[in-house]
Amino acid sequence: MSTRRILILGGTTEARLLAERLAARDDINVTVSLAGRTRKPLDMPATIRVGGFGGAGGLAEYLRAEAIDALVDATHPFAATMSFNAAEAARLAGVPLLALARAPWEHQPGDIWREAADVAEAVSLLGATSRRVLVALGRNEVSALEAAPQHAYWVRSVDPVEPPLRLDEAHYIVARGPFPEGEERDLLKRHRIDAVLAKNSGGDATYGKIAAARTLGIEVILVKRPPRPEVPTAGSVEAAMVWLNAHPAALALRGE
Ligand code: NAP
Repeated sequence: MSTRRILILGGTTEARLLAERLAARDDINVTVSLAGRTRKPLDMPATIRVGGFGGAGGLAEYLRAEAIDALVDATHPFAATMSFNAAEAARLAGVPLLALARAPWEHQPGDIWREAADVAEAVSLLGATSRRVLVALGRNEVSALEAAPQHAYWVRSVDPVEPPLRLDEAHYIVARGPFPEGEERDLLKRHRIDAVLAKNSGGDATYGKIAAARTLGIEVILVKRPPRPEVPTAGSVEAAMVWLNAHPAALALRGE
């Protein structure tokens, strides 16, 4: 039996779940690639490689050198650079590409949302008057908060924000999701939060804060998703499995 070699560009729950599903198969050899931003990534039953490839050309080279049969871009919806690199690398190397991307959250009755094009705009939408803000943007872009020091921030991230932000009132919550709605409601009430700053990541694991804000009547400032390349896309791990099972082109393209 020939073994298909699949590379998953990871950094998300979906990437880990897909790796778990594929690892159970004898006919598939799976590698997950991580950028290396998280200090202690969760364990996965797959070969893990860490660090950038050096742009689309570097990734194309890796695909060829490792004889990868199919590439799955399961990066976060906001990791747009990597997604464009994946599309270009797949084209250069002639490797089939599937994007695994969860749908964005949709506005529900009762939601008080304002949308921003990027993190800087989201911060400016908080306004001039001091507010108490839960920040769920990850730690890489939170320096944008320094432009609005009039607010009090509760900044949540998987790893600590280092160095700490130059702000009078910044509190840090180091935690890894999922974050259930009930716990999010307690958190919002405990700190008397009156605004939530978040990315429209989609998915269930971090939706709790959106649902909790709705029930408490708290405003959510949501950063809209960046554009992504137009490639075949699966909205769930299940749909990705269907695509991988039904995609004989992976082997055919390499002439095997
Ligand atoms: P990005 O801006 O799209 O990518 C920047 C560079 O990081 C890429 O050009 C690539 O370097 C490297 N890179 C990104 N993802 C990689 C991967 N899976 N494997 C190897 N190299 C990778 O990415 P980002 O927004 O910084 O996200 C980095 C990682 O964090 C991704 O794995 C993403 O899934 C995860 N993540 C991001 C967010 C977010 O809000 N952005 C949230 C949760 C998780 P080279 O050009 O050198 O190859």
